[in-house]
Amino acid sequence: MTDLQAILDGIYTELSPRIGEGKVADYIPELAKVDPKQFGMTIATVNGEVHSVGDAGIAFSIQSISKVFMLTLALGKIGESLWKRVGREPSGTSFNSIVQLEREEGIPRNPFINAGAIAVSDVVLSGHAPREAIGELLRFVRYVADDESITIDDRVARSETQTGFRNFALANFMRAYGNLDHPVEHVLGVYFHQCALSMSCQQLAKAGLYLAARGSNPITGHSVVSPKRARRINALMLTCGHYDGSGDFAYHVGLPGKSGVGGGILAVAPGIGSIAVWSPGLNKVGNSQLGAVALEMLAARTGWSVFGD
Ligand code: GLU
Repeated sequence: MTDLQAILDGIYTELSPRIGEGKVADYIPELAKVDPKQFGMTIATVNGEVHSVGDAGIAFSIQSISKVFMLTLALGKIGESLWKRVGREPSGTSFNSIVQLEREEGIPRNPFINAGAIAVSDVVLSGHAPREAIGELLRFVRYVADDESITIDDRVARSETQTGFRNFALANFMRAYGNLDHPVEHVLGVYFHQCALSMSCQQLAKAGLYLAARGSNPITGHSVVSPKRARRINALMLTCGHYDGSGDFAYHVGLPGKSGVGGGILAVAPGIGSIAVWSPGLNKVGNSQLGAVALEMLAARTGWSVFGD
């Protein structure tokens, strides 16, 4: 049996001198205040083991990792017809790029770049007031993580509402092309609040377990999605989960993963477990610098890469 706790402890010891590397996201003022000298990591296995190290119990802003949960909800709501509104190809551009959206007439490349996620939020919003859609997401995340204490950080949501000019531009663009059904303010209200979900590595790793265990949470027994849907969400995370750093992440880590500008990454080892890592300093493409290094070390030491050990 692999001693996962010893592996995590080893990674933490080796990375300790580097904690604080990278640059915290400063385009959202509330995130600029976060102390970069933090690092946490949790592995939750499909057998029910949970191992953690460092600041794994501290809640942070999950930002774009929320796009995985929103995508799960939207697919549950409208199924495959979602793909008329959003593509499934890697973008090769930055997370908030506008150029590609214009060239492709308002259909975002994939559900994990900002434009794609905004279209997905529009789908979840349908039939609801914005407040109810946010409530639906919060209930869902609490359910998959089996943790009622998860909350949304309103200060982060407000901060982003005041400064999210690019997201307003993306949303207005899509509305102009007829790819948003609801008023831009409502859709972005949902989007900014989903990004402001506040979770610890421990909560996030548990929340991602359904993706590692064929669509069901093996600890609670809750069935969340079909095995086929879990497999497909994993495929999208592998190809599109790290913006234009997705190829590099697949090359070095070899696991489906989704990053957020809060410095978190959720990675999935299908059939084995779900891993959450958090370190706020980001690399040039906006992904957690040490988080990616830690996952590379983990994949190398466990042989969990989906491409072979
Ligand atoms: N809320 C962020 C934004 O829309 C999410 C970006 C990210 O985490 O990558 O800019």
